[in-house]
Amino acid sequence: MGHQSDSESAPDALRAQAHKAYRELSKLQECAFRECCAGPSGSTTENVSITWSQALTSDEFAENVFARYKEVTSEVAVIKSGRVYCYHCASSVCEHSLPTEDGHAFAGYQDTGRPRWVEFLNFLLSTGDNRVDELFIESPKILASVSRRKALIADQLTTYGRRSLTYRIIGQVVVGYVRIKNLRFAISFQVVETSGHKLISQTITSERVHDVLVDASKRESSSLHRILDATNGASGQIRRLNDDWASSNGKKKERKQLTDKVLTILRHLATSIERKGRQYYRRTVHAEERADQRRPVHTALKDVGTAKSGDFFLDETRQSIIVLGRNRRSHVFNSTGVHITTLILSGDKIELRQRRKRYVPLTDTQRKDFLSAVASRGFVET
Ligand SMILES: [Zn+2]
Repeated sequence: MGHQSDSESAPDALRAQAHKAYRELSKLQECAFRECCAGPSGSTTENVSITWSQALTSDEFAENVFARYKEVTSEVAVIKSGRVYCYHCASSVCEHSLPTEDGHAFAGYQDTGRPRWVEFLNFLLSTGDNRVDELFIESPKILASVSRRKALIADQLTTYGRRSLTYRIIGQVVVGYVRIKNLRFAISFQVVETSGHKLISQTITSERVHDVLVDASKRESSSLHRILDATNGASGQIRRLNDDWASSNGKKKERKQLTDKVLTILRHLATSIERKGRQYYRRTVHAEERADQRRPVHTALKDVGTAKSGDFFLDETRQSIIVLGRNRRSHVFNSTGVHITTLILSGDKIELRQRRKRYVPLTDTQRKDFLSAVASRGFVET
């Protein structure tokens, strides 16, 4: 075989023999999966490598293959995509393996090995995050919080899986609140070591949110897509660590370095999501502004009814009356009290225009005249 030139492919005889072996190995795999009670459909996505050498007897080879497939299929059974392993029930499909509320995030294991799900806000408070106010401002921010394994297993007892390799969480990022289609939810993104010393990462949400995410991820234009893009990117980085991770098994120093790498990936993910979240909200808020601008005159008149004396201005350039309303609304009226339009202006812009003397505060007399003009149209509610 060493005498063949590079451009030549394997000889036909060799290919025919390989073809036979390939078919037999496929049958061996099918059989192994069947004997390990994993359905063939669940097994096809798994890439299992087995080693053959002449040094092994055929019985030893069979034992090795059996052991290998047992290992792989037990991982498949334990790791259910989108669910946290529950040590209490020894299951990834029990009621504890998923958040029941959309806004709940994974907050670690309880002493008895049950996953603990808490409202994202409370989770942040428990970690001492002082940014919680930013969840409630007019254009709320998406916040992301990184947790290390140590914090997540702080309460977990050894008898309930504290040291278990079944589902060993390395770290996680919790993200909230994401808003889409009237849902307000949290996302828990976890990096986990499996019993086969493989690193996996996965996103955990309530079942309802999961369906929405699957939907949203198909639409390129969706802003949420950018957040999911970031988690996919992090998943790729985690996957690329896998070979190093496997070979670092039992080597304390290497393991520590790789764990630090995982945490760095998680921290970058958190930063990236918060940044993408801001862009996401800018767009959402603009959409709301446009919706506001289409709102009927009713909102304008309601705002006029509750406006304070300092909220009335004359736009000297246009000779129109400006009334500052709630939520940065500025209502434009003509001098006879007819509502023309509503603008959403940032506080800065108003200040700027005032400074440029374009908006001049109405005097008391002007204001009363304006109000009576509006009232004469029968609009103002008293
Ligand atoms: Zn359970």
